[in-house]
Amino acid sequence: AAMTDPTHSALLARHRAVMPDWLATYYREPLEITHGEGRRVWDAEGREYLDFFGGILTTMTAHALPEVTKAVSEQAGRILHSSTLYLSRTAVELAERIAALSGIPDARVFFTTSGTEANDTALLLATTFRRSNQIVALRNSYHGRSFTSIGITGNSSWSPTSLSPLQTLYVHGGIRSRGPFAHLTDAQFVAACVEDLRDVLGQANGTVAALIAEPVQGVGGFTSPPDGLLAAFREVLAERGILWITDEVQTGWGRTGDHFWGWQAHAQAGPPDILTFAKGIGNGLSMGGVVARAEVMNCLDANSLSTFGGSPVTTAGALANLTYLVDHDLQGNARRVGGLLLARLQSIAAASPVVREVRGRGLMIGVELVEPGTDEPSPAIATAVLEAAREGGLLIGKGGRAGNVLRIAPPLTLTVAEAERGAAVLQSALSEAHAATTEGQRA
Ligand code: PMP
Repeated sequence: AAMTDPTHSALLARHRAVMPDWLATYYREPLEITHGEGRRVWDAEGREYLDFFGGILTTMTAHALPEVTKAVSEQAGRILHSSTLYLSRTAVELAERIAALSGIPDARVFFTTSGTEANDTALLLATTFRRSNQIVALRNSYHGRSFTSIGITGNSSWSPTSLSPLQTLYVHGGIRSRGPFAHLTDAQFVAACVEDLRDVLGQANGTVAALIAEPVQGVGGFTSPPDGLLAAFREVLAERGILWITDEVQTGWGRTGDHFWGWQAHAQAGPPDILTFAKGIGNGLSMGGVVARAEVMNCLDANSLSTFGGSPVTTAGALANLTYLVDHDLQGNARRVGGLLLARLQSIAAASPVVREVRGRGLMIGVELVEPGTDEPSPAIATAVLEAAREGGLLIGKGGRAGNVLRIAPPLTLTVAEAERGAAVLQSALSEAHAATTEGQRA
């Protein structure tokens, strides 16, 4: 029944003719989402989906949240124009709220239009502050695809070019469940990673500017290091004055349930020097930002870094979104509903020969898929599950180094009933995808 709408098929042809070939879309028949409400979205043919991905975690609270719609449309009705040359009441208020929430003392905030631009700004700060272009990143990391951020993204398949102006040193601490560290206890793993970090720093060429890490690797497949890892890293960094940047683009705003920021799972590490955020804060509006203590933020000899730096419309929407999130304790909801969903998916996985592991924190859950009964990553089954889930009315994402991890990250207002419903669709999708591959092998 897919693509019965002629205007939709025409749109797809026009999209392919005018957009770059490398612009990947999900699904054999790419989806055109026309509207949404709460945790549900509808496509151009009127089919309804339960949304377990929110774009890529961009819908933080809910689709068409009235508070956000009102704030955005009222501001749009007053004035759209934007420039860092003038003051903005909503930008100042949002910055104050985020500074207070960041846990960084004497915090300054600069708004950007994306996560990539936030990380670029963080790199500009760290390299300038330390007068060094050497950065430490984790293997399997994802921090963006601009000319600088690809230099700290630890997987060539996520990088459009191998050129980068940064000198990057990659350390262990990303993927845990596979590879040489798979058999280690948490404490042994932390010790091994610290030894690796010391070794890598020992080989660096003089001053190292910063270490950047995602507290839970997002594009990498929702893998979390043991809670002590970043604290142990911080000790090594502190000995040498190296800055710590936490990339909270996916893990911020309470998504991980137990903590408002991902770095707080490593609270003994103390506050980071620089924190970057994006995605969910705008609930779909393009917005990101950087928080740093004043000494670091103010090291630039610059007069602004961009035209927008948080427009009145995006900051008004983000402020309404953040207010809703805090007032309704959506972090608590992520912890409760995420915990139930994780347990439910783990019990489904126990009976499925294609699931190797279900892992996650709060409403950030990864389902790692393998060839039936083996340890072999299966991107083909992941793709088949994505298609089958869509047929069943459920949108999910995928990621992981081999493209074999389902990514589940619904809006943080997800209800228990919706979690149950989504899990049931996923259960059928897993069986269907498994059956289809066994069928394929027999044919
Ligand atoms: N950092 C992380 C952890 C991300 O997941 C992403 C986007 N997937 C980015 C940075 C880049 O953000 P954006 O796509 O908004 O530029």
